[in-house]
Amino acid sequence: MEENKIWLSPPHLGGKELNYIQHAFDTNWISQYGSNIDEFEKTLENYLENNSFVTALSSGTAAIHLALRLLNIEEGDFVLCQSFTFVASANPVLYQKAIPVFVDSEPTTWNMCPNALEDAIKYCLKQGKKPKAIIPVSLYGMPFMVDEILEISRKYEIPIIEDSAEALGSKYKNKPCGSFGDLSIISFNGNKIITTSGGGVLISRNQKSKDKALYFATQAKENKDYYNHSEVGYNYRINNISAGIGRGQLEVLEERIVKRRENHQFYQYIFEKYDEINLFEEPDDNFFSNYWLNTVTIEKKDSRFTKEKLKQIFSENNIETRYLWKPMHLQPLFSECKFFGRNVCGTVFEKGLCLPSGTNLTEGDKDRIKEILINLRY
Ligand SMILES: *Cc1c(COP(=O)(O)O)cnc(C)c1O
Repeated sequence: MEENKIWLSPPHLGGKELNYIQHAFDTNWISQYGSNIDEFEKTLENYLENNSFVTALSSGTAAIHLALRLLNIEEGDFVLCQSFTFVASANPVLYQKAIPVFVDSEPTTWNMCPNALEDAIKYCLKQGKKPKAIIPVSLYGMPFMVDEILEISRKYEIPIIEDSAEALGSKYKNKPCGSFGDLSIISFNGNKIITTSGGGVLISRNQKSKDKALYFATQAKENKDYYNHSEVGYNYRINNISAGIGRGQLEVLEERIVKRRENHQFYQYIFEKYDEINLFEEPDDNFFSNYWLNTVTIEKKDSRFTKEKLKQIFSENNIETRYLWKPMHLQPLFSECKFFGRNVCGTVFEKGLCLPSGTNLTEGDKDRIKEILINLRY
């Protein structure tokens, strides 16, 4: 019998989403205004605390782009980017014709290395240009070294755009991801911990900045009786139907975090018995990961299995796995860009694999995964 496909991280609806969509239809607010948008934003603001002003947008990528606009980042400006990430973290820097300068990861969180960051800042200063922003990422749900990165941000007075696209529900020292940056972003794409189908939010720290984000997201239309425009704007606002999905999803967020962390425990139990394979874990109690994706690194080069083999065996059993994000400094797109660090992220990329981590993973699915992994050892 053909077994069903196990996906890496599929959408998982909670059941209430259709009620909110129905409400949008019933009231005929199916476009870029409506109570779903307002309530979605308000609920997130309460969840994130720490002066969070949320603007709901069409994607996380749009949120990063608007963050760059709010910081007046323009052609030729330096922006310090984490190299180990999905390309959406860095693409908006190119939209602005600014110059990404890539920073390595440290081995404990796989996120931006404070030492490499400082080296990168010093390089930019030597060129006579202070970088305009730092974009650290909480990759796979693991918070970056928040204290250390924020300290450098304050020391050099360079604002942080926190890319917590993958980290809704994660915490550092008990404070939620999405609350650390001068500006922060979260993605609600279909594969993230909860979804709006497609969508994202920009989180700013005051009302004025939120108003400005909304202005840029709606074609930079000025507050006049006629349509008057002095600046370039975008069509980046979320719609009231997607926001309805988001409202339903927010109701099950806590359950989803619990389930992702249970998945992590499942893998912990399996990989305990392996010397060759390391499950990526929280470094200490300061870090609380939503474990959006569980990732492993294969530590022994001469082992009987490689990440390619592992991926293939899963694939033959109709189970999706994925290589880690290929670092940006190794991408053809960014081949001209500077990179600071010792290629920690490149080494992790070479060894790593992401395993199925969806919240709709059943006990039967887990048995299939377990069997494959156990058979590997013989
Ligand atoms: C998903 C993701 C984004 C972009 O979000 P979209 O909503 O897909 O545009 C940005 N950064 C990271 C690290 C992501 O994983």
